[in-house]
Amino acid sequence: MANKKSEEGLTVKKDENFSEWYSQVLDKAEVTDMRYGVKGFIVIRPWGAMAMEKMYSLYEQALQKRGHKPTFFPVVIPEENFKKESEHVKGFAPDVFWLEKIKGESRLALRPTSETAMYQMYSIWIRSWRDLPLKLYQRANVFRYETKATRPLIRGREFYWIETHDVFATKEQAEEQVQEDIRTTEEVMHQKFGVPFLPMKRPIWDKFAGAEYTVAADTLMPDGKILQQPSTHLLGQHFAKAFNVQFKDEQGKEQFAWQTCYGPAISRILASVISTHGDDRGLVMPFCISPVQVVIVPIFNKDNKEKIMKEAEKIKSVLEKQNLSVELDSREEKRPGEKFYEWELKGVPFRIELGEKELKAKKILLSTRDTGKKELVPETKISQIQKLGEQYDERLKAKADHFMDGKTVNCKTKEELKKAVKNHKIARVNFCSVEKPGTRCAEIIEKEVGADVRGTMANKNEKPKAGEKCIICNKPAKEIVYIGKSY
Ligand SMILES: [Zn+2]
Repeated sequence: MANKKSEEGLTVKKDENFSEWYSQVLDKAEVTDMRYGVKGFIVIRPWGAMAMEKMYSLYEQALQKRGHKPTFFPVVIPEENFKKESEHVKGFAPDVFWLEKIKGESRLALRPTSETAMYQMYSIWIRSWRDLPLKLYQRANVFRYETKATRPLIRGREFYWIETHDVFATKEQAEEQVQEDIRTTEEVMHQKFGVPFLPMKRPIWDKFAGAEYTVAADTLMPDGKILQQPSTHLLGQHFAKAFNVQFKDEQGKEQFAWQTCYGPAISRILASVISTHGDDRGLVMPFCISPVQVVIVPIFNKDNKEKIMKEAEKIKSVLEKQNLSVELDSREEKRPGEKFYEWELKGVPFRIELGEKELKAKKILLSTRDTGKKELVPETKISQIQKLGEQYDERLKAKADHFMDGKTVNCKTKEELKKAVKNHKIARVNFCSVEKPGTRCAEIIEKEVGADVRGTMANKNEKPKAGEKCIICNKPAKEIVYIGKSY
């Protein structure tokens, strides 16, 4: 069905009104539909779903390469399991959707996350040190009763993610897993999808409920606000003790296991991909996840339709043999100009035009979405599309990196901090502590600056010089923290 609205195109510029641009691009490029009618629940349309399928696939390949295996667990969690780890239940209970009306049975939680679903099974499966490490992941939708304003793909009451749940014999192995998870985020979200991030070890007051510590990937939206992407948690032995996840070590002694979990939210990463790369003409999809990587638009009239379609079909089949996602747009009810416009709005990386003139010269007109470049090239160029696609993704990433690089500034005083936050930057400052004693300074920053302490760099050892003071309380600074406004 034709969507009248999409023909109107975007009516705002991305850097003038990002929020409105974002809503329009999701709607007009047919990524999501907001008309389902239940707060926080949205419909993801085929264009969004096809991109997410590819994102899932690339993510899962990266996890499998590092020894993870897939599993599927039920969406419901028995209330008694959910309540086993006390910090976890305190943190998550307000967010839970409960299924209440099953006659004669106890309440069931719709999973907000699956620790309490999976670990009772882990306690059955794991017997000895030979069963470790156990590294499993599942593709899942999870449910959280958000009371804050919801934003499509960014914050909703249902979202789509992957959750990994890993078990180790030692704390060192579990901590190494946290670092591996940061590298997975780097390999997939940054290197493939082109979304840069800061790996932040969260302050103690901002860790996952039930974890020893949390590392989260902070990304930057075009409006300067931080959006949290995958986080990974060192669960320590909290859940192992609550769920009795034990193993016999090599000496035959029973030990509690060490656990981690990691949760890349594919729907939310799609929000970052769209926001990071899109422009005033619509989406700019990375080549590696675009539902259509190459669109062929044949330009014909009644007389030459047959021979042009034949050549277009041939080009399509050559491209498909290279495992590319190709669409041949032969609709007759649309003019070529309308088709160009529509595929640009949807962010398709490459467009091939083929008409009488090109056919005669054995050439094609090749347009590239990100640069807007349009060139007449020999038809044989189609054998290089894969390589051109890789270069295309490199350009998107370089542009995003450049944006991110300019956004972090060192601040020495509260005034500088205020100014940085006001200018939509991430401030890097000396800070007293990311343990309990730092809570008060973080509250002051929240109240007076309107920003959050996001944490310390998780994969580098950054420490203040001797004698440096906390930017707020003037006590000796033990940490360098990053501060910004978040979604
Ligand atoms: Zn302080």
